[in-house]
Amino acid sequence: MGDERAERIAEFIEPLRVEPGSKVRLAKDFDPGYRAGISKKKEGVELLRNGIELLADYQRRLAAQDTYGVLLCLQALDAGGKDGTIRHVMSGVNPQGVRVSGFKVPSSEELDHDYLWRYTRELPRRGEIGIFNRSHYEEVLVVRVHPENLRRQKLPDTARGPDVWERRYREINDWEHYLSDNGFRIVKLFLNLSKDEQRIRFLKRIDVPERNWKFSSADVRERAYWDDYQRAFSQMLSATSTEWAPWYVIPADHKWFARVCAAAVLAHTLIDIDPRYPQVSDETRSELAEVRRELEAEAPEGAAPDPYAAQAGRAAAPPVAKERHRKRKKKHHRHS
Ligand code: ATP
Ligand code: MG
Repeated sequence: MGDERAERIAEFIEPLRVEPGSKVRLAKDFDPGYRAGISKKKEGVELLRNGIELLADYQRRLAAQDTYGVLLCLQALDAGGKDGTIRHVMSGVNPQGVRVSGFKVPSSEELDHDYLWRYTRELPRRGEIGIFNRSHYEEVLVVRVHPENLRRQKLPDTARGPDVWERRYREINDWEHYLSDNGFRIVKLFLNLSKDEQRIRFLKRIDVPERNWKFSSADVRERAYWDDYQRAFSQMLSATSTEWAPWYVIPADHKWFARVCAAAVLAHTLIDIDPRYPQVSDETRSELAEVRRELEAEAPEGAAPDPYAAQAGRAAAPPVAKERHRKRKKKHHRHS
């Protein structure tokens, strides 16, 4: 990775970062319509394409190194664009290295455990990128805005006093610190949508038949709690943006821009981890050379002993006889 490119990415995401210890007031501090001076969607799409290639390369190295894991937490209000962000940003990445987990209203089994239990179970392994589509932050968002959720959690009285939110912030920070100390980097993105853009997206879900299935009247009812959510988000961002797991507020009114930002923040973390392909020892290398000699000796007559090396210009090798392919094909024909 060129240092210049890494620096450009770092600069690009800086205005989105919630400075640890700062007090956030969403409406005042972050503009959902911000576009970093990029006026054309076309430009953004090109940037995203580059970002996707970069992520694919880093993800291969992350998996090969098998030391670090990355957890991407996505939070948003309804119609904020979580699903589309996942679909686009991860479109170039090997699906084997990614695990996406969504969190809905907790089941009765989940309510039988401590509140972080169900999130712990879905954490990525080393070498993986885990994506939380909604996350443990729901425990200080929807649970706070609708206190009946807290009542359902079967908590002892001592764990549901007025200090419950402050305590949860601390517990979440400690949990994330523990994970990051042990090689799991946490990337936290809040897709920040304006109230009017949410209105327009809901209308689109009504107007476009293919989107009707996405429409939920519960989401529209939830809109009545907009201010409560803004407050809960602001407090949560202020209390849980840490040096080891900072929050990024992603301007979400322009979907294409939100995707560029999400890719950039994830790329920034991967660049920082800088995963490397494992190096083999001298002993293994000489074993490999021995096996190579054996495989080369098995090459059919007229064929390059090592076509890959020949292609890469590493060894002079005779061209593969074209005749052979045709002959084999004919033979196959006779049998069928
Ligand atoms: P979609 O894009 O498909 O609508 P979604 O994440 O909104 O995705 P839904 O099934 O519509 O999925 O909604 C999940 C619901 O679960 C949300 O309303 C969310 O607030 C709620 N939820 C998530 N975690 C908790 C929790 N810990 N306690 C109570 N409710 C929760
Ligand atoms: Mg929903």
